[in-house]
Amino acid sequence: MPELLHEWVSRQARRRPDAVAVVGERETLTYAQLESLSNRLARILKRGGCRRGERVALLMPKSPTAIVSLLGIYKADCVYVPLDPASPPRRLAKILEACDSAWLLAGGPVTDLLAALVDDDRSVGSIAVGWMDAKPLHVGPFGGGGFGLGDLQSCSDDPLEYENTRHDPAHILFTSGSTGIPKGVVITHDNVIHFVGWATTYFGMDSSERASAHAPLNFDLSVFDIFGTFAVGGRLHLVPPELNLLPNQLAEFVRHAELTQWFSVPSVLNYLAKFDVVRRGDFPTLRRVLWCGDVLPTPSLMYWMERLPHVRFTNLYGPTEATIASSYYTVPGCPPDPHAPIPIGVACDGEELLVLDASMEPVLPGEAGELWIGGVGLSPGYWRDPARTAEAFRPHPSRAKAPGRIYRTGDLARVGDDGLVYFLGRTDSQIKSRGYRIELGEIEAALNALAGLQECAVVAIPSGGFEGTTICCAYVPAPGAALTPAALRRELSNAVPPYMLPARWRAFDRFPRNANGKTDRRRLKEVFEANATEANR
Ligand code: AMP
Repeated sequence: MPELLHEWVSRQARRRPDAVAVVGERETLTYAQLESLSNRLARILKRGGCRRGERVALLMPKSPTAIVSLLGIYKADCVYVPLDPASPPRRLAKILEACDSAWLLAGGPVTDLLAALVDDDRSVGSIAVGWMDAKPLHVGPFGGGGFGLGDLQSCSDDPLEYENTRHDPAHILFTSGSTGIPKGVVITHDNVIHFVGWATTYFGMDSSERASAHAPLNFDLSVFDIFGTFAVGGRLHLVPPELNLLPNQLAEFVRHAELTQWFSVPSVLNYLAKFDVVRRGDFPTLRRVLWCGDVLPTPSLMYWMERLPHVRFTNLYGPTEATIASSYYTVPGCPPDPHAPIPIGVACDGEELLVLDASMEPVLPGEAGELWIGGVGLSPGYWRDPARTAEAFRPHPSRAKAPGRIYRTGDLARVGDDGLVYFLGRTDSQIKSRGYRIELGEIEAALNALAGLQECAVVAIPSGGFEGTTICCAYVPAPGAALTPAALRRELSNAVPPYMLPARWRAFDRFPRNANGKTDRRRLKEVFEANATEANR
């Protein structure tokens, strides 16, 4: 195993320099090219004053250049912080501020966003920008030390010496935070190396792999796509995001790229099943389908397993805080009926799943308890947030036998008679919609900052569609306020990304209350469920 993640690329570049590493829409890079370009980038970052441990934000669509960028950041002994180009500037500014980033690497169609960031938040003006695009950038001003793509050629591509060790942070992934401020999950090189080491062995991966890169870079599934592939010297095929809405083309992409591995959130698999675009015996090169991040409904799994008997199907489970996935279950055969539950299985090597009651004792087999995770995948904690870290990461309950910490997932689970763990749902108001992790509290916090609302409550109901959940907003207008859902939605879109925007809106004169006088969210959900077919108002 390497000491640092990018050393996998260096090793492949020495052994098989001309092997294809990354395939994008318009560009393909070999391992030698990846190595050379990322060495140059690391040098230019260091020359510009970027120091060990500094956070470098990444604002660009997933592309070969984005892969070069994150490798260059690692090689400069720095930490990458991927920003979602679909997020509004206000939210990105919060993340930039929280991670205290002095550097930003950007490229692709993000100039409007950069311009808005400069307008929205003056502090962005002190950030140095590395513009990783051949087209000139006409936005600014930014801090000193910035550079353009052409400047890379002025730097040597010789290998660098690294100061980082495997326990240093590799990246910070910001996820939705219930208070309205996104939480930065710090992930070390060591965290990823352990998972990739387990997964590449368990799945028997080798240099003939052609793996999908479907998840965006701000999602931790992307980390396995990238480093699982580079660890074995395979090819990473970047899936264009626009194919997500074009099921036939997405299936054609899998065929044409001759993928051996597909890894995504379940909503994509549901979508392809819903449009019935997978033929019997389709995707003959495909060896495995992996999903993570949400429940894959059993009917969807049956659809896939019936059509692709040559493929191995594995459910991976885990939160970002425990690095990509902590447990796995390879489905032994097509489930017998559409209601058969699919377990999340058993812990990956070096990880531990604990189903505990409120006094931190293991629950009896079959009983529901809260799921905690221990082991090698655990993040050191939330970026510069000791209070949240102490709340979520606790000492292991059998400290004498197992020193270390466990992470509170907020998931409910039970251990079956078969010894496998089954996911039962959430204990809180975190939801998944199209695979995105969303704290309903973040949407409420953003709504509460808008004028004209006396009260609001955001609830989620099952959608019955491929996205899994529908976000619904109930609100009481302030006296005299003339509000329309369309106007509210427009305002809200300045604060949260599109996937957090409620699909249903409903005005109330007053909210139903429960016995404690609190908003009765269960009742609000019932109202939305009863009107499931009602058009948005
Ligand atoms: P994220 O940090 O985005 O990976 O979200 C983590 C949460 O997604 C977990 O705490 C679960 O609630 C849910 N989750 C992840 N994987 C699965 C899975 N295989 N089945 C069901 N829920 C999952």
